[in-house]
Amino acid sequence: MPTLIIHSPTLNDAQHTLLKSVGDLQARNNHYRIECASIDAEKLFELRQESELDINLLPEGFDGSQVKLLISDMDSTLIAIECIDEIADYMNIKPQVSAITEAAMRGELDFEGSLTKRVALLTGLNTDMLQTVYDERLMLNPGAEALITGLKSQDIKFALVSGGFTFFTERLKEKLGLDYARANVLAETDGKLNGSVVGSIVGAQAKADFLNELCAELNITPNQVIAAGDGANDLLMMNEAGLSVAYHAKPAVQAKASTALNHRGLDAILDFIG
Ligand SMILES: [Mg+2]
Repeated sequence: MPTLIIHSPTLNDAQHTLLKSVGDLQARNNHYRIECASIDAEKLFELRQESELDINLLPEGFDGSQVKLLISDMDSTLIAIECIDEIADYMNIKPQVSAITEAAMRGELDFEGSLTKRVALLTGLNTDMLQTVYDERLMLNPGAEALITGLKSQDIKFALVSGGFTFFTERLKEKLGLDYARANVLAETDGKLNGSVVGSIVGAQAKADFLNELCAELNITPNQVIAAGDGANDLLMMNEAGLSVAYHAKPAVQAKASTALNHRGLDAILDFIG
């Protein structure tokens, strides 16, 4: 039977009446569930619009009690910024760089090519500025800490994967106690960025490969993985996972993910688990 997840700890009268029309509401930890006979995409869209809540259908074959790994994108998913755009801001070239970032996230540009172009624009930046970006600009998205605490309490691993840079993923891994991280290494010469990355670029395929590598390492199946992202370069990875979450994502990403969060913070991902 299809299961609807209503990502809200409380419902107002109108929401309650609307949702009761679909099936019996079961109150769970911080959310509600409905086991319903059947529901099509059109009806789901209508429920979301009318209730102004995040409502998702659990993918067929997905078992929340078996989840062992969450793999998440960094920029605009775990954190509220695009690091490369903020680095560019300190060089007074943010408009040029963020225009390329936006187009890549919408899937209009090939990610690897767009990253090469953007990193080249950072040539000559003093690497101390990366720490300044980390200290002054980097903020977690709402619910990030609650999500991580909730996952740890259930022994679920957290992997951070990014088409951005290890400078930021490694600091977040350390600070938040994450289990795994993978991203691009910014190359530097004499304390300045030299406009390239070390080795091959972590793009869409590398993110999907990381998910599969971790499944092999943890001896689990991709169906035991939740993947979260907001951009087009997250889709290959998201497609591998048992459940994918489009987090306040571009329309092209929402269209292809199995679930979407547009109102709630990251902690709503816990509603899928257990
Ligand atoms: Mg992103």
